[in-house]
Amino acid sequence: MKLSDRVQKVPPSGIRRFFELAEEKDDVISLGVGEPDFSAPWAARTAAIDSLERGKTSYTANRGRRDLREAIADHVTRYDQQYDPDEEILVTTGASEAVDVAMRAFVDPGDQVAIHEPSYISYVPGVIFAGGEPLSVQTQAENDFKLTYDDLEAAGAADAEVLVLCYPNNPTGATMSRSDLAEVAEFAREHDLTVLADEIYAALTYSGEHTSIATLPGMRERTVVFNGFSKAYAMTGLRLGYALGPSEAIGAMNRIHQYSMLSAPTTAQFAALEALRSCEDEVQEMCKQYNRRRRFVLSRFNEMGLDCFEAKGAFYAFPHCGGDDEAFAEALLQEQDVAVVPGSVFGAGGEGHLRVSYATGMADLREALDRIETFVSG
Ligand code: PMP
Repeated sequence: MKLSDRVQKVPPSGIRRFFELAEEKDDVISLGVGEPDFSAPWAARTAAIDSLERGKTSYTANRGRRDLREAIADHVTRYDQQYDPDEEILVTTGASEAVDVAMRAFVDPGDQVAIHEPSYISYVPGVIFAGGEPLSVQTQAENDFKLTYDDLEAAGAADAEVLVLCYPNNPTGATMSRSDLAEVAEFAREHDLTVLADEIYAALTYSGEHTSIATLPGMRERTVVFNGFSKAYAMTGLRLGYALGPSEAIGAMNRIHQYSMLSAPTTAQFAALEALRSCEDEVQEMCKQYNRRRRFVLSRFNEMGLDCFEAKGAFYAFPHCGGDDEAFAEALLQEQDVAVVPGSVFGAGGEGHLRVSYATGMADLREALDRIETFVSG
């Protein structure tokens, strides 16, 4: 069978390869997956069950149920985002679908898409599947992995059509304040870039405040925001996300979505609606627990000499392990049965680091960090 050039250009996920290694062993503590250890709030699960009991098993409107879009429009006002539920919101099958559809809606063959790295692993394949050319923009550990005007300029991002921005960041946990974002916005306006802002970790910001680049002057009209229910509401398996943007952009994304997906999962839309209506306390409680774990993990890494900057968002620590991060992670797994992800999987600037997820219970975290300390001092 002939495979397309596009699919052959994309290697299998480096994270997956690591998990297959981990699965071959018993007793492994995994700090590898970027997935909450909590279950979705009970009220959200009940709403899904209830919808099934009432026989709500049909497609919804392509853009998602109207009541859910209204609830999303209402919810995002907490980030000063104002979007019209009829024209400017698309409910998707996870933020993942929003990423995929956006690449296909905004990228022509040969267009450059600037992606700051280290970053989440789906953007580069998404660009390649859309026929575009990924352009790596390395952020610097000295700047706590924030994207700067100079990083963009040095990488030649002035020639790109699209910029992907992911803060709070997976894998570093870095966040960007309004003043940090101002220089990125300036660059985007100067060079007429479309910005795809993946804000799926917006609710997991431990300083308490998330700023969306879409709210900076002149940015709303050139930005599409991705968000979803996987992280904040511990709903990864329900596969529900959304995109926010100007009506023309959301309309273009919907043109693809209506053919490729028809509508996002109906049962999950009921769960999501209830999550937005009544689960704020559960989100706050999960956030509190992540924050406790974050402080614990950071202090343990720094005590054992694996330097770790103070990540303010998401649920990852990104300690510096020096040298060959793949060899480090592989030896740690073999010798101490702890799975982490080598930083180089996340692109330029990730080498010499490890991504450690603290979406793991405290008892396992404690044991895993003891084992890492034994490994490091051994
Ligand atoms: N963006 C980022 C930055 C992520 O970390 C993830 C999940 N690992 C996603 C998007 C995909 O999320 P979803 O489950 O909503 O497809």
